[in-house]
Amino acid sequence: MAKRKQSIARPSREEAEEAVRTLLRWSGDDPSREGLLDTPRRVVKSYEEFFRGYNEDPVAILSRTFEETDGYDEMILLRDIRLESHCEHHMVPITGKAHVAYLPGTRVVGISKLARVVDAYAKRFQIQEKLTAQIANTIQDVLRPRGVAVVIEANHQCISTRGIHKPGVSMVTSHMLGEFRDNPSTRREFLAMLQSRTCAAE
Ligand SMILES: [Zn+2]
Repeated sequence: MAKRKQSIARPSREEAEEAVRTLLRWSGDDPSREGLLDTPRRVVKSYEEFFRGYNEDPVAILSRTFEETDGYDEMILLRDIRLESHCEHHMVPITGKAHVAYLPGTRVVGISKLARVVDAYAKRFQIQEKLTAQIANTIQDVLRPRGVAVVIEANHQCISTRGIHKPGVSMVTSHMLGEFRDNPSTRREFLAMLQSRTCAAE
């Protein structure tokens, strides 16, 4: 990974802003008119936020764990994590929710860390399938739990505002590892917890 990163030289901020001017001209507008003068600067700044995941290390995020859990070994589920990403084919937003569950081995992690791992991968150019697998695989590799389940439900602007223009269509992906994959009753418990809305939220 490190090698690949080094081989991609990042352009300067000025070059990035010039690229935005090119797209404005390509769209048929005049980047020198008043309303658009500051747009390249704003777009580049937005990109820093949209794609900050490239500067984050999901493995490091998960590396601080707790072992004192008084023997808690049941499922831990973080539900309805807001998801904001960008489709790598069209560079337009993907928005939705991620649900992340794991069955702890000897270590647990602070729940905010699970949400940060989702963000670290979401704030990149993505396809939903890869995003789902990356989150699950990283949690599995770093925490070594008995199993991991990740479900993502998301809307893709590339099918709602262009192309086939189908708003209101959501895509659901899931990636299950360990006991979630092998044990049907664990999987059922997970899906039931996902659907139950009795205890929290609302
Ligand atoms: Zn797309």
